[in-house]
Amino acid sequence: MLKNLLGDPNARKLKRFTPLITDINLLEQDLISLSDHDLKRKTYEFREKLDKVSSKKDQRNLLDELLPEAFAVVREASKRVLNMRHFDVQLVGGMVLHEGQIAEMKTGEGKTLVSTLPSYLNALTSEGVHIVTVNDYLARRDAEWMGQVHRFLGLSVGLIQQDMNPIQRKKNYSCDITYATNSELGFDYLRDNMAADISEVVQRNFNFCVIDEVDSILIDEARTPLIISGQVDRPQEKYRRAAKVVEDLIRAAETGKDGIDPEGDYEVDEKQRSCILTDEGFAKTEKLLNVNDLFDPKDPWAHFITNALKAKELFIKDVNYIIRNKEAVIVDEFTGRVMPGRRWSDGQHQAIEAKEDLDIQSETQTLASITYQNFFLLYPRLSGMTGTAKTEEVEFEKTYKLETTAIPTNRKISRQDWVDQVFKTEQAKWRAVAKETALIHREGRPVLVGTTSVEKSELLSSLLSEEEVPHNLLNAKPENVEREAEIVAQAGRLGAVTIATNMAGRGTDIILGGNSDYMARLKVKEILHPRLVKPEDGHSPPLPLQRNAQSDASGFKSGEKKTKNIDNKQKQLLRNIFPASLTEEADSELALLASNLVKEFGDRAISSIELDDLISTAAEKAPTEDQNIASLRSVINTIKNEYELVISQEEKTVREAGGLHVIGTERHESRRVDNQLRGRAGRQGDLGSTRFFLSLEDNLLRIFGGDRVAGLMNAFRVEEDMPIESGMLTRSLEGAQKKVETYYYDIRKQIFEYDEVMNNQRKAVYSERRRVLDGRELKLQVIGYGQRTMEEIVEAYVNEDLPPEEWDLTNLVSKVKEFIYLLADLKSEDLLGLNKNELKDFLKEQLRNAYDLKEAQVEQTHPGIMRQAERFFILQQLDTLWREHLQSMDSLRESVGLRGYGQKDPLIEYKNEGYDMFLDMMINMRRNVIYSMFMFQPAQKKVEA
Ligand code: ADP
Ligand code: MG
Repeated sequence: MLKNLLGDPNARKLKRFTPLITDINLLEQDLISLSDHDLKRKTYEFREKLDKVSSKKDQRNLLDELLPEAFAVVREASKRVLNMRHFDVQLVGGMVLHEGQIAEMKTGEGKTLVSTLPSYLNALTSEGVHIVTVNDYLARRDAEWMGQVHRFLGLSVGLIQQDMNPIQRKKNYSCDITYATNSELGFDYLRDNMAADISEVVQRNFNFCVIDEVDSILIDEARTPLIISGQVDRPQEKYRRAAKVVEDLIRAAETGKDGIDPEGDYEVDEKQRSCILTDEGFAKTEKLLNVNDLFDPKDPWAHFITNALKAKELFIKDVNYIIRNKEAVIVDEFTGRVMPGRRWSDGQHQAIEAKEDLDIQSETQTLASITYQNFFLLYPRLSGMTGTAKTEEVEFEKTYKLETTAIPTNRKISRQDWVDQVFKTEQAKWRAVAKETALIHREGRPVLVGTTSVEKSELLSSLLSEEEVPHNLLNAKPENVEREAEIVAQAGRLGAVTIATNMAGRGTDIILGGNSDYMARLKVKEILHPRLVKPEDGHSPPLPLQRNAQSDASGFKSGEKKTKNIDNKQKQLLRNIFPASLTEEADSELALLASNLVKEFGDRAISSIELDDLISTAAEKAPTEDQNIASLRSVINTIKNEYELVISQEEKTVREAGGLHVIGTERHESRRVDNQLRGRAGRQGDLGSTRFFLSLEDNLLRIFGGDRVAGLMNAFRVEEDMPIESGMLTRSLEGAQKKVETYYYDIRKQIFEYDEVMNNQRKAVYSERRRVLDGRELKLQVIGYGQRTMEEIVEAYVNEDLPPEEWDLTNLVSKVKEFIYLLADLKSEDLLGLNKNELKDFLKEQLRNAYDLKEAQVEQTHPGIMRQAERFFILQQLDTLWREHLQSMDSLRESVGLRGYGQKDPLIEYKNEGYDMFLDMMINMRRNVIYSMFMFQPAQKKVEA
């Protein structure tokens, strides 16, 4: 009601933009007639205007003023380079981003293109714009794809990739617009703040940032802070023994309700993700280890045992981690992606390595860390886009001060969300999933099934093979990841069945009928790879999903050997996706190209990445002088057109059959993640449908459903294979999901609140460091440290309540001499008659004189060395003490958590004590630096005889 009276607030927000849209559409008419050169000139005109304003506020106002024309210019450029004209709703999306808000735009609405608008506009100030994506592949894709528009208009475009060195990074960060992932940005920030020299710093000051898939980054990933760590030594043998011992321990059946002690050695709390030994468990473990006390400080075991238990019960192979190259690699539970290089902290990872009998890597110590929350808040202006933000609106607002605006779709949505089917057992559910998949597949529609773990996707895979349904697996396993782009490019084809672990492949578009552009690129790569790429290069080409060697007329039997290794049963599972053969024309063009390239680069002479680069550059439309690129481009186009023929026919058939069907196999931890999955169907007004299959045994219901759901389990006497329909069940389900959402929100809030305390300290330390790196007035800084130390000494020894003759001047003087040996002549008599302030002033002056003296002495033999020494000592002290401080803050956090029982708010305790600890740390830093400076004696220069 109220909504109707006042008007929908979202609609009101959108309405503000209407006049601007009209302006942009009008401007379009003028721009159409401009030559490419004149269109590009617009960039210089805008920049000239911006150069004339100096204050931030004026600059912002001018940007707002320039918006309509700048957007019109980008749209025109995009038409010319990408053949895409921004839809009006995309313009609105761009405006919302420019205002520093979140634009909610459904999957397939073209968010990638939307980001070109605010990024161009904000890059005009030359202060840098960051476009953030969830993975390296997307960063690269977008930089190449959208970068064309910006480069066409005369802006520089940079890209950050995981394997880049600092020099490459610096170059890319200095571009007008830089594409990067959240983790690269965050780690570069931390590394920059550990740099020993300004030349090692790669990032510029932050300015404006657009985050793609913003919920994924600011919500899902916000649970794990970014940490850079160094190594410490811990006894590895203990991990192994602990892993052995817990094998013999027995899990208690269910947590002892009603005060009855459970039988067994330990209890598991899945919700809290913790394991606790029972009294019997303690006794048994001590016996097995042959020790008297697990908590013996000289030989502590408790922590190792707890970690080993958690590794046994809560960290599941192929769900929480996978084994790759004999290492346990974390799998992100939300995205299903592997996160190489990340490790669980506090010995947990080592416990898993022990369980899996892998090499146990040494334990690490935090050197620097930051949460994504505080990292992204460093940007003066932040914005984001995603298909699913509204459900998390409050969190965005509270944590990040980001407003969310829903942008209408370009065409009407015609996706149908079918009613959930709930089964009593998980088994029955999977059978039903396989059945529906098979059914829809036979109708010729493509099907995408989302699962929550590698294990479950493999279970479904075997069920589908029984039904003789060919399908592809898209999950975190390394052999599948390599083919991710390839599988997604085909996922919309006639009757294609794709099983994806959660949101693997997120951000890549499933096009009905298939993505001819991608297929062409992959085909070319497949053919060129074995001839051009160094054999020792780790990256193998994507294994063709199925290539019938006989009917492949390409002449290159690259896939042949590999295909032979696949046994027949497995072969059935793989879907034949590429049209088996190319036309003769395409084929001979490819053959010619291959031999030309071999002549040019040499047989097997380039790396896999270089080949990728070649192919992507060729797939762009930017004009080229390079002969190789030109002929590569021509081949790609020939093959693409060929695929296009097949695909356009297929697309029609797929559309007639009803488009993509998406199946969810479990409710996720938030409604948003469910919506992401559903959103893959029905893009750009396409036909499509979705359905979720659930069971009472699903984790969500088991852990968060409460007693009501447990009761339901028994109450239903229906047959297993019959779906249950019950209002009470639906409500319990929603209730459980809301509970989980709140639970995780609370966790994130807590992480954020605790990191907030650190945040100000981190900022202070980092800015102090930065001053040193910039070499700004180092001497003044050190003298400042000294003066504060003098003040502190006076405060410690002078009690103004006592008469001056009782002040302990003798000790005061010897304390001063401890720091400044150059003041050896200072006597306590010199201080008589001075009041407290005069004392301070006097000592400060003494200090300054002594420092000048020190400088004169030292520089006599080593000119210029004082500044270097100042720099060195400040950095050394600041870094060492800060690192120790990080450890202390960690322990403090643990201990306030325990103290929480006594009516005190642990967060407030943490804040207060943390603040005191920080002050102490800074005091120590200043004292150590001033002490070191006075003690500093440069080595005598060798005297040449
Ligand atoms: P999203 O990230 O919103 O899910 P994408 O950016 O991946 O969507 O774009 C989806 C598809 O829509 C892409 O294939 C893109 O080429 C196409 N597209 C986007 N905007 C336009 C446009 N204005 N005109 C034509 N095609 C477009
Ligand atoms: Mg996208």
